[in-house]
Amino acid sequence: MRLVFIGPPGAGKGTQAEFLIKKYHPAHLSTGDMLRAARDAGTEVGLKANEYMSTGQLVPDQVIVDIIKERLAQPDCSEGFLLDGFPRTIAQAEALDEMLKAAGTPLDVVLELRVPEEELFTRLAGRGRADDTPEAIKTRLVGYRNQTSPLLDYYGKKGLLKTIDGLGTVEEIFARIEKELDSLQ
Ligand code: ADP
Repeated sequence: MRLVFIGPPGAGKGTQAEFLIKKYHPAHLSTGDMLRAARDAGTEVGLKANEYMSTGQLVPDQVIVDIIKERLAQPDCSEGFLLDGFPRTIAQAEALDEMLKAAGTPLDVVLELRVPEEELFTRLAGRGRADDTPEAIKTRLVGYRNQTSPLLDYYGKKGLLKTIDGLGTVEEIFARIEKELDSLQ
């Protein structure tokens, strides 16, 4: 199964991704995790990326596209993958389409985890990660609205989008995801 998981910061995407991986076993490609690992390892790309991450801005498309391209070429991805945090812009989605087209491995589904913005701000403000300052949270939410939400239309038009209601208990939300994924098989 090849899937993209889209959701605003604070939607609970990380938690649901964990459940999904336990059950369906795709390779997990989280760009947030990859960038944090690169930053912590002190690589050139990681340090450059951190200048954007720490203020809640998106890392430049070409940087992230190169990272994903390299990762998708690794053997574990041939069995399926979950893209978590990528694509986040139309340019990234187009680059992904090109890569997958060249490999002859199109996406099966794009899951959107939907949560109202007021609820997101409350959740993020209580989380306390280093990039969870009120200013950075605002920047990420506005960035999602302006740069990432156009992807919903992009994938909707391709008939790939499934929207999941992100309110409820973790188990209730995962049951909704399972229902969508099981109906694909
Ligand atoms: P969140 O979903 O909480 O905003 P992530 O862990 O997915 O956080 O990402 C953290 C930061 O990493 C983002 O705020 C952004 O700076 C950077 N980042 C992650 N994925 C991408 C991407 N696809 N394109 C550009 N920047 C990204």
